[in-house]
Amino acid sequence: MATQQGRHFLHIPGPSPIPDRILRAIAMPIIDHRSAEFATLGKQVLEGCKTIFKTSQPVVIYPASGTGAWEAAIVNTLSPGDTVLMAETGHFATLWRQIAARFGITVDFIPGDWRRGADPAAIEARLVEDKAHTIKAVMVVHNETSTGSTSRIAEIRKAIDAAGHPALFMVDTISSLASVDYRHDEWQVDVTVSGSQKGLMLPPGLSFNAVSEKAMAASRANTLPRSYWDWQEMVKINAGGFFPYTPATNLLYGLKEAIAMLHEEGLPAVFARHQRLASATRAAVKAWGLEVLCENPAEQSPVLTAVMMPPSHDADRYRKVALEKYNISLGSGLGKVAGKVFRIGHLGECNELMLLGALSGVEMGLAAAGVPHRSGGVMAAMSDLSESGRPAGNIAA
Ligand code: PLP
Repeated sequence: MATQQGRHFLHIPGPSPIPDRILRAIAMPIIDHRSAEFATLGKQVLEGCKTIFKTSQPVVIYPASGTGAWEAAIVNTLSPGDTVLMAETGHFATLWRQIAARFGITVDFIPGDWRRGADPAAIEARLVEDKAHTIKAVMVVHNETSTGSTSRIAEIRKAIDAAGHPALFMVDTISSLASVDYRHDEWQVDVTVSGSQKGLMLPPGLSFNAVSEKAMAASRANTLPRSYWDWQEMVKINAGGFFPYTPATNLLYGLKEAIAMLHEEGLPAVFARHQRLASATRAAVKAWGLEVLCENPAEQSPVLTAVMMPPSHDADRYRKVALEKYNISLGSGLGKVAGKVFRIGHLGECNELMLLGALSGVEMGLAAAGVPHRSGGVMAAMSDLSESGRPAGNIAA
């Protein structure tokens, strides 16, 4: 590819662009991870994370990608032969299911068409049927990154309660945390799984389990052998601000900065900004005459928009043209929708003008790749943004 001038437009749904402030924080010299100075940092990030997950319970931080935290949630609480209930929201729910299956866990997978979030009524119905309480956990992906659909976690909590079922509730917030409203304690989630490279605006390499007392008790009782992922050892050593093995020190510097940035903007403002950018993106898609993959407007993701390609046009060929001509990376279709959709990320370090630049790249890319569409998407996004209130970003009120 020819050298391209200016900043690359990274608009995949994570890893998201890293703010300069965070890059500078990460570039600090490494320190002794057994020193008093480290313990101060350790305590700051462990406490700070709780404000993002909205919990007063422990948040475990792993030097691992999100997949590690998925596995950690499973091996701490479940054993071979257990049954869990999951919903087929898309590719990531399917991958989490595969991990559970590899540990000999039976997954009751509520089928889905990848065009909506998990259905609280279907979950309630399955739990009501399970009179013997064989289902040990309900596991849901909050923001299905492969489809751009969010699941209604508060409603799923109500469904579990309405069924009077004691199953643990585990939620993957890898692509929703710090972008979409989320409340670990209020929604009585037992394990919240998350990762660093999306709403937290960090590089990949950290992942998280926020753990309720009920889940902690389940892990104490669970005899499945585990070591690296074990919560008990982690929480014991975290009490002093330390970790049981060498932590990703520089990513923790970045995490401290990310938490500060999120609170400076204010979480409600962060969530509202994501909603505004998503709404403008959907306005553009509509004006192009294309279709958003998520069919339920109430579940359309604030984080990313998956756009369906017109029949007989390959989304990956289109993405290649957009990258080569306009230096923009768009997300590929994954699993069942590979080649059929492309995904526009509008998460983390993103504001109105960054989004409009990206949408211009998408629209010019459509023309350059010969994909049938109407022009005017960027104009529609501009109108949507000017109707939807004050600009995004760190602007003091
Ligand atoms: N869950 C969701 C919703 C994701 O979006 C991803 C990655 O994009 C994962 C899990 C897997 O995380 P990782 O690739 O960091 O291992």
